[in-house]
Amino acid sequence: MTTIEKLTELFKKFPGIGPRQAHRFVYYLLTRSQQHNDDLAKLIGLLRTTVTECTACHRFFEMEGRIDTQLCDIDRDPHRDRTLLMVVSRDVDLESVEKSGAYKGLYFVLGGSVPILTEKPEERIRQKELLETIRQRAANGLREIILAMNVTPEGDHTADYLAQILVPMLGGGIKISRLGRGVSTGSELEYSDSDTLRFALQNRG
Ligand SMILES: [Zn+2]
Repeated sequence: MTTIEKLTELFKKFPGIGPRQAHRFVYYLLTRSQQHNDDLAKLIGLLRTTVTECTACHRFFEMEGRIDTQLCDIDRDPHRDRTLLMVVSRDVDLESVEKSGAYKGLYFVLGGSVPILTEKPEERIRQKELLETIRQRAANGLREIILAMNVTPEGDHTADYLAQILVPMLGGGIKISRLGRGVSTGSELEYSDSDTLRFALQNRG
């Protein structure tokens, strides 16, 4: 394989990128300077050393030189409401909710969602880690779990799947809620504006 082919193959694996776009990325890089491409390669090389996964919520966060903590700024913030735990599919969903400013509890990032016809749902998400987190938090004042999935068939399915596991496990002591339908059907949290998210949170049930 040529360098162009190899790089095209790598870009093709990016989310939402098809073969044609992947090819265009390579040709775009060919128009840029050596310095630009070296800087890009260097930044990619740094990603795994400067960004780490929070051991509590599992989002990725920038360590900014701190070696003393495995916890992100949200989990380290003493002012966050520890009685609330919002479960989201991906980091970008968490970022949208944070941007809305409407939520002051803690999060858990599933790292994916559960497709409707999958045979091994537990392998698609951080299920084991979620149950462990909930067990720990339940013993430390957790009162409500908010299942904040995308308003899509797959998002609904993921929330149903989680509720089915959590309801018997928690036995009614902890409320399980979902976002209100302010988020219109077919939409993804990532693209919902702050007002919509605020409304959906206020109208959860
Ligand atoms: Zn965290």
